[in-house]
Amino acid sequence: MSTYTAPLDDIRFALYDVLAADALFARLGYTDATRDVLDAVLEEAARFSSSVLAPLNAIGDQGCVFDKASASVTTPPGFKQAFDQFVEGGWTGLTAAPEFGGQGLPHTMGVPLNEMVNAANLAWGNFPLLSHSAIDALRQHGEDWQREVFMRPLVEGRWTGTMCLTEPHCGTDLGLLRTRAEPNDDGSFAVSGTKIFITAGEHDLSDNIVHLVLAKLPDAPPGPKGISLFVTPKFRVGRDGAVGGRNALRCGSIEHKMGIKGSATCVMHFDGARGYLVGQSHKGLQAMFTMMNTARLGVGLQGLGLSERAYQNALRYSRERLQSRALPGARFPDKPADPIIVHPDVRRMLLTVKSLVEGSRLLGLHAATLIDIASHADDAGERERADVLVSFLTPVAKACQTEWGVECTYHALQCYGGHGYIAEHGMEQLSRDARITTLYEGTTGIQALDLIGRKTAASQGAGLKLFLAEIDGFCSAHDGNATLAEFISPLRAKATEWAGLTQRVLQRAAGDADELGAASHDYVFYSGYVALAYWWARSVAAAEASSRGEAFIDAKRETARFYFARILPRTLMHAAGIEAGAASLMALDAERFGA
Ligand SMILES: Cc1cc2nc3c(=O)[nH]c(=O)nc-3n(C[C@H](O)[C@H](O)[C@H](O)COP(=O)(O)OP(=O)(O)OC[C@H]3O[C@@H](n4cnc5c(N)ncnc54)[C@H](O)[C@@H]3O)c2cc1C
Repeated sequence: MSTYTAPLDDIRFALYDVLAADALFARLGYTDATRDVLDAVLEEAARFSSSVLAPLNAIGDQGCVFDKASASVTTPPGFKQAFDQFVEGGWTGLTAAPEFGGQGLPHTMGVPLNEMVNAANLAWGNFPLLSHSAIDALRQHGEDWQREVFMRPLVEGRWTGTMCLTEPHCGTDLGLLRTRAEPNDDGSFAVSGTKIFITAGEHDLSDNIVHLVLAKLPDAPPGPKGISLFVTPKFRVGRDGAVGGRNALRCGSIEHKMGIKGSATCVMHFDGARGYLVGQSHKGLQAMFTMMNTARLGVGLQGLGLSERAYQNALRYSRERLQSRALPGARFPDKPADPIIVHPDVRRMLLTVKSLVEGSRLLGLHAATLIDIASHADDAGERERADVLVSFLTPVAKACQTEWGVECTYHALQCYGGHGYIAEHGMEQLSRDARITTLYEGTTGIQALDLIGRKTAASQGAGLKLFLAEIDGFCSAHDGNATLAEFISPLRAKATEWAGLTQRVLQRAAGDADELGAASHDYVFYSGYVALAYWWARSVAAAEASSRGEAFIDAKRETARFYFARILPRTLMHAAGIEAGAASLMALDAERFGA
């Protein structure tokens, strides 16, 4: 079975040494977020995830049970008790506003919590994840009474939330959806339709389930502009907060799937269920984007968490497993063979995972600090810049952290040889669980399009310019620093190349719209690898400036060297893909792809 210990040391390094998050929180007015409080939160989150959630991961793989007669879903053994403890510990409201029962800590502090929860038990982590997104959507778009009535129970964990977008014939293209909402006489709406793949649509963890449902009003214009958002609870809720009987909605079945089996993936039928409009009519997609952006960063952390867990187990195994001798000669002549960590190819796999995990931990935390700045900075210009930059980085984080999650769990399993394929070690579960993260909350292809289209072309590269300026500021600040020179010079070259590639693809796109789609996949990964080069250079700078021991500093420097030598060159391939243009993708007639 795979095990998990929260990597507190590296999380603290990323938060305090690299990002100086404690100083940032103080500047943003989070007076309660002192170092003592933050450390206590990290330690307790580590204890809970490692000792309560991690042991339930393998049990969760047995899956949820659906009872057709009662349309109920029973979560795997231990899930409910763990959820109750999570609620009692106040974790559901860690970063929510105190006026709704939350603890008011910075949004950034939700990131290490989510990483740990996802690493410990991804399927379980999906239940609280979507509540968080529902809270955000209601906070930003709901009416006062909706915030009053729905947010407190969600924040307190008595209720949980869902996102109901997908229908059998539409996932990516929500403009096609058929679910309808007819106005009732009392200002509420009757919501009717079928949603599929709804995470946590039905379960036994909370007293009520708050579904945020996309549907069309009778006068809706066609396409995505005609979509509205409705809050539609499992048990009816009045405007005064009084909870009534069952609403006209039910779970029709749950999916049998490749991974995250402990997470209930439900078909949901709405048969005139009473719901309330959230935000303006026909503007539901905008409100839903609020949920999706939070959830996309959250799903990125799922990839990160799984990669960390996979790494810990592969590392331990590679130190213990004895096979063959090191190529230059025996390292441990007293043993029958050397541990496999002596072999260059095993080290390649381990270092690939280590460098992607530690680098992308910073990518996720940085995005979260931008959310805190965007909501709490005094200066309007600073808030605006942070908002633009986090919008730009969100598809990069979601696409890269999840695809790296698939890659990292693959390498970690490979370190086990054939034993990785055997269920008992738990490595194959990590690989299976990782696969969904590249699909839900928008596939990797859709993140890539979002980055190059909405977040770059449509804004004349505003987000990229901000990020390049940040990289340039860092490089200039360390000009002449002999220790960092080996990182600064290639980083600067990549930043220049990134700007040029972007300019050329946008120019080509002016003449052929397919150019954006054709470059999108390579563009999002190119962006991710350069972003991580920046975070690795900053990590070395922060480690050198810290009072951490030589072993820690050395490990950061050597891992950064590996990253620059062996991972960053992937950008060469992606740059070639971006420059190749659309012609070779679009020339072959669809009929000629094969029989
Ligand atoms: C386990 C699980 C849990 C889920 N949880 C939820 C949930 O809680 N709520 C919810 O609403 N949904 C949920 N989903 C649905 C999920 O978000 C969708 O499956 C996903 O968005 C993709 O939609 P689709 O499956 O219809 O694929 P499609 O949209 O049919 O896409 C098929 C392929 O075409 C590509 N594609 C589509 N359009 C374009 C385009 N314009 N350009 C380039 N490529 C394109 C896609 O990238 C993909 O590779 C869940 C799904 C699963 C499997």
